[in-house]
Formats: sequence, structure tokens, C-alpha cells
Amino acid sequence: MSNEQSGSRSGQGRRRPHDEAGQLIECPCGTVLRGESLDRVVAVAQSHAKAVHDMNLSSEQAESMARPS
Ligand SMILES: [Zn+2]
Repeated sequence: MSNEQSGSRSGQGRRRPHDEAGQLIECPCGTVLRGESLDRVVAVAQSHAKAVHDMNLSSEQAESMARPS
């Protein structure tokens, strides 16, 4: 019962192939952002873009930059 999953919305049966491998996004500034899933790394990249570059990065943009780590 204590399976800690942030945002566990209907994750069953619909897995993206890269979700389990971990993802990374390399920011143009050279910072490498990592997450254990696409959703996580997108969130990390968005907060990095906001905090460091004062930029609103859309999740589509972030996803297009993500690659398996
Ligand atoms: Zn950056």
C-alpha cells in the first residue's frame, strides 16, 4: 500500500518504452537534467528553465529534447 508514485494516474497498460530506462535532457546552457521517467525529467527541465533562464518551457518542447539516459 505504500507504493510511492507521484502522479500515478492510470499508469497501467500504457507504458512508453523509454519510461523505465530513465531520461535526460541536455539544456542548451550545458546543464544535464535527469529523471527516472519522461514526466519527471520534463518537470525538472521546466523548473530549470524557469529558475535559471526565466523561461516557460512547454512540456512538448521538453519532451522533444528528452532522450534515454
Ligand atoms: Zn539551462
